[in-house]
Amino acid sequence: MFCPNCGYKVKNIGKAKLEEQASLSSDFDSNKQIKVAYQCPTCGKIIHDKLSQEEMKSLNQVAHGKIHKARYDINSGLCSLVIGIILAAIGLMFFALSFDLQKNHTLDTTRVEFIVFCVLISVGLILAIFGSYLLIRGVIAKNTYQNVVKDIQNNTFVQESCVK
Ligand SMILES: [Zn+2]
Repeated sequence: MFCPNCGYKVKNIGKAKLEEQASLSSDFDSNKQIKVAYQCPTCGKIIHDKLSQEEMKSLNQVAHGKIHKARYDINSGLCSLVIGIILAAIGLMFFALSFDLQKNHTLDTTRVEFIVFCVLISVGLILAIFGSYLLIRGVIAKNTYQNVVKDIQNNTFVQESCVK
């Protein structure tokens, strides 16, 4: 279920929570039997299970925006990931230089090379993890909102029920 105002994807809502939310909303009318109405946690708008034409248009627009942002996330994620891997690889070279050849190839942790290795490997790993996170988040968002746009264009869009 998607918020037509901001594009937020509502996952699981407990039934009790849903009824409480619905009764709080100003447009809740028990006679009209609104089946699903939920207040968007991001923008505060009420989300219904049936969208009007206006809401469809709005959702289509925000979905395009989300796809755009997802592409940006994928690109930045890939950049961070590649830079992170390169830094970690350079770090490993410094690790190889941290061994004392005179002292029977023992690791000398007081060497500058070892400190450089620690810094590079830490920064590299953080960048790689952050990059992977952005990349995965971007790919999931891109797929999700591309499906929304496709369904709206084909007039097959339905708000999936997400009531537990
Ligand atoms: Zn919203």
